[in-house]
Amino acid sequence: LSKNAHSAQKRHSGEPYFNHSYETALKLIEWRLDAPTIIAGLLHDVAEDTPISLEEIKKQFGEEVAFLVEGVTKLGHVKYRGQEAQAENLRKMILALSKDLRVVLIKLADRLHNMKTLGAVPPQKQKRIALETYEIYAPLAYRLGMQDLAGELEDLAFPYLYPKEYQWLFHEMKDKYEEREKYLKKVEPTLIQALEENKVKIIKVDYRAKRYSSLWRKLKRYDMTLDQIYDLVAMRLIVKTIEDCYATLGIIHKLWPPLPGRIKDYIALPKPNGYQSLHTTVFCIDNKPTEFQIRTEKMHEEAENGIAAHWVYEQGKGEAGYLDKRPTFAPKKELVWVSQLREWQKEFPDAEEFLDSLKIDFFRDRIFVN
Ligand code: MN
Repeated sequence: LSKNAHSAQKRHSGEPYFNHSYETALKLIEWRLDAPTIIAGLLHDVAEDTPISLEEIKKQFGEEVAFLVEGVTKLGHVKYRGQEAQAENLRKMILALSKDLRVVLIKLADRLHNMKTLGAVPPQKQKRIALETYEIYAPLAYRLGMQDLAGELEDLAFPYLYPKEYQWLFHEMKDKYEEREKYLKKVEPTLIQALEENKVKIIKVDYRAKRYSSLWRKLKRYDMTLDQIYDLVAMRLIVKTIEDCYATLGIIHKLWPPLPGRIKDYIALPKPNGYQSLHTTVFCIDNKPTEFQIRTEKMHEEAENGIAAHWVYEQGKGEAGYLDKRPTFAPKKELVWVSQLREWQKEFPDAEEFLDSLKIDFFRDRIFVN
């Protein structure tokens, strides 16, 4: 249906419009969302941009899919034009308007593909979309625990917002990244051997290169030079259990002395968005400060997919029951501010009243400093 409905349309790049719907749906599959969400991903621009009506979608695919498509269509009308003071309210509004987090997830998948293809869009529009992504959608993804997505969205927006800075970083960093990776490859065998001797089973080792956008923020915020950044490329160790995480930390510290103040236990004290890992920076081979990140597979999955990792729905609980559906696992881990938001929605059946209530900040326990 989507392919036919969009058949007369092309993207700015000249490719068939349906490619966009398809890519959006593929992303939702990658996040392992349920079938109605994936269908809605395919249909998300149909009601707005083609002759097919929401009624028709409801008739063919049922109320749940129509509800999701309608939600995404509504979000399409929320636009950010750069007043920073409004950014936080806008993020809340997006969540409130969505009524169901799956709508936000479709919107994020949609935005990701739009960002990947932003090069073909007219310059004026590029700037607006990139800014909105940087200020609204990337932070939203981050709050939902989707750190990887947040970073990717930021990095895609960065060259459009700060072209000169991006060029500079890109040229400066290219060699440095390679140099750091080569160095870490030299470190790896020593560490693996020590872990094996101590019977810690390593599931995966990879290198995490710091993203341009976060590197730039760090340089600017702390007035640093590139040589002062220790975590340009960090070694990431995925192990089996939480005990293994701490054992690995101990083994690393036995091999190389840690830098004071750089040991972070996000397992005992997760970040507000749910992120868990152990981080440490040590004076490694040749005395080079080097960052290690240690986590279990489950933490790794959650760091990549965030709320989507928890968002597995029970299948078919009768008609119109979809609004009451609850995640089938790890409900405790559901992010506090998301469940709070949902509670509030129950208290304020009137949409306007609910939006008013959002003006009271629900991050009462946290202080934000600009
Ligand atoms: Mn779209």
